[in-house]
Amino acid sequence: MSTSRAMDATGAEDTAPNTMMETDLNAVDNNKQDRVNNMNSVEPVKIEIIWSIVLFFVFGHLSAIYGLYLMFTSTKLLTTFYGICSWILSGLGVTAGLHRLWSHKSYKAKLPLRFILMLMSTMAFENHIYEWCMDHRIHHKYTDTNSDPHNAKRGFFFSHIGWLVVRRHPDYYDKCLKIDMSDLKKDPIVMYQKKFYIPLLLLFCFIIPTIVPVYFWDETYVNAFFTSTMLRYIFTLNMTWLVNSAAHIWGKRPYDESINPSENLSVSLGALGEGWHNYHHVFPWDYKAAELGNYRANLTTAFIDFFSLIGWAYDMKVVSNDMVLKRANRTGDGSHPDGSHPDGDGIWGWDDSNISIEDRKLTTVINKKDD
Ligand SMILES: [Zn+2]
Ligand SMILES: [Zn+2]
Repeated sequence: MSTSRAMDATGAEDTAPNTMMETDLNAVDNNKQDRVNNMNSVEPVKIEIIWSIVLFFVFGHLSAIYGLYLMFTSTKLLTTFYGICSWILSGLGVTAGLHRLWSHKSYKAKLPLRFILMLMSTMAFENHIYEWCMDHRIHHKYTDTNSDPHNAKRGFFFSHIGWLVVRRHPDYYDKCLKIDMSDLKKDPIVMYQKKFYIPLLLLFCFIIPTIVPVYFWDETYVNAFFTSTMLRYIFTLNMTWLVNSAAHIWGKRPYDESINPSENLSVSLGALGEGWHNYHHVFPWDYKAAELGNYRANLTTAFIDFFSLIGWAYDMKVVSNDMVLKRANRTGDGSHPDGSHPDGDGIWGWDDSNISIEDRKLTTVINKKDD
């Protein structure tokens, strides 16, 4: 573990004190113990429903269904196209911003990109950056335990939407005090958005998306509100929620078969590349959030790569192929295409594909000759 200087998401340099190593090790031990304790207590406490949020989501989903009806009957094609673009924009705000940048620090972004991502994520209205990331860091550190806000062990419905309409488990509040959020407290963009969240979300999630089609191409207010605003908003929400629900239930587990998160292509398509969830939970610091080297089902990676080309995104972390394969062979379910499980775990000799590069390097070859 390094005690040297570290860069935070804002690009600012931190100087870690010399006592950091001991503190970090203690923190790691405490976290491990917390995890063990949590694994042993998965029984939820009594359910207390927050009816105002239930009403909001009922209204939201009914509005989205009406928006879908209008889309096929009276909404202009341009409005529908604009709604799709808004979904992608707000979705990327969640995936590239809230998730890969602010929650995981898997890359760094310069101020203009952080500002754009803040606006895009505000358009998605999934809570402000600070709280979204706190929830998500707790989700990763205490996955599928009572501390996890959307504990998938409580079923599909709970991890999809149910967790948002009931009071949180007491274990969760405990972890809110423990999880490190110091980097986000130092990011002025995050703090600005937190302070002005209500007016910002009204403006960017509801008012502007409704006014644009009316002002620029004479759409009706009803069509614009229900189609390009409510349908887009509820659709984006559900695509995000599927990562917490479906991608914690269905799919293969090539990297670690002992955890619920799984690889799910359908979720990846809807959530712009966030469905490669077994990989992501094993290597949460990889900016691709997947092993894929292409953009077929990972639009978010293409977005970050584009901003890296113009210098606004940098310091992207990538896990090496060797490390991925080693982990897949050690803990995966055998579904990794390059894994060794299907042929057995043993090694027959020098040129067996299972022998690690490290083992080959550390082997002494006597009287070596080039063939
Ligand atoms: Zn994550
Ligand atoms: Zn997850």
